[in-house]
Amino acid sequence: MVKENIARIIEEGKEAFALATEEMVFAELEKKYLGRKSDLSDILKGLKDLSPEEKREAGPLANEGRLVLERAAEEARTRIASFKLASEEHIDITVPGRKPAVGHLHPITRLTHEVEDIFSTLGFSVVGGQEVETEFYNFDALNIPSDHPARDMQDTFWIDSEGLDSQYVLRTHTSSVQVRYMEAHTPPFRIVIPGRAFRNEATDASHEHTYHQFECLMVDERGKVTVAHFKHIAEMFFREFFGRDVKVRLRPSFFPFTEPSFEFDISCILCDAKGCPVCKQSGWLEIGGAGMIHQKVFEKAGYDAGKYQGFAWGFGLTRLAMMKYGVTDIRLFMDGDIRFIRQF
Ligand SMILES: [Zn+2]
Repeated sequence: MVKENIARIIEEGKEAFALATEEMVFAELEKKYLGRKSDLSDILKGLKDLSPEEKREAGPLANEGRLVLERAAEEARTRIASFKLASEEHIDITVPGRKPAVGHLHPITRLTHEVEDIFSTLGFSVVGGQEVETEFYNFDALNIPSDHPARDMQDTFWIDSEGLDSQYVLRTHTSSVQVRYMEAHTPPFRIVIPGRAFRNEATDASHEHTYHQFECLMVDERGKVTVAHFKHIAEMFFREFFGRDVKVRLRPSFFPFTEPSFEFDISCILCDAKGCPVCKQSGWLEIGGAGMIHQKVFEKAGYDAGKYQGFAWGFGLTRLAMMKYGVTDIRLFMDGDIRFIRQF
């Protein structure tokens, strides 16, 4: 008798919990099948009045039944909670859609592409290089004497190279690619090398430890590439880049890897060379250095002495970006502030 009763209660209870979809109903069922005054509890309480044989049979059965009902109740509770959640989630089709956040290229990346495009139309190839470079390619190959101040700890990030085949540095200019490229190629060639260069110096509004630069090389047999070619190409480049006529001016200078060497300026694009605070009223802006590649550099690359001639020039892309966009603090480009980047 007791056995059948227990089985019936379990069957009924399981079914009832399986059908429950409302919290109120669930609470009632919980009371009825698992509460202190449930039928099952009554049976368990009455076990003491049964014969030992009935007790042995009914006891485990009732305990097991209680576990079965608890599991059924738990399932019902989870199901009811999820029903409730779904009914609370109203979908309002009149609410305007949310725009997915779409990024865009960093202004420096965009300008890099622009510069590459301009040089490509002038017949130049774009060449890459490595940022961690040996002391040889960064300094020695470029005819920079071993006691040159540029090698100073203050100016260069030296890399702990113990146990390596060479002494490594973070390249201080993209010129480090020059001899590497020449070792693998024979003139004539025209190349541009975009990339980052690094200087170990304190940062302020006009100094950064990381610069974006462009290096430009044009090499051919002796007499075929002259300073006039450089000037012409530079003028064409800046005219394209700034979208207006720009004059280029050369001033004599000195670099170990070029002879003759010059600094070059462009007519101030902010005031049309009339004079303004940015150009310090001179009408000219300093842009970079250039020169005819030193024969010693060709020799380091393994070229025959005196056979080739060409120009090299480098300029800071970050500086050009500042001019183009009227940005007065160089650090803004690299400090990762999204509010700054979003303006471009
Ligand atoms: Zn000016």
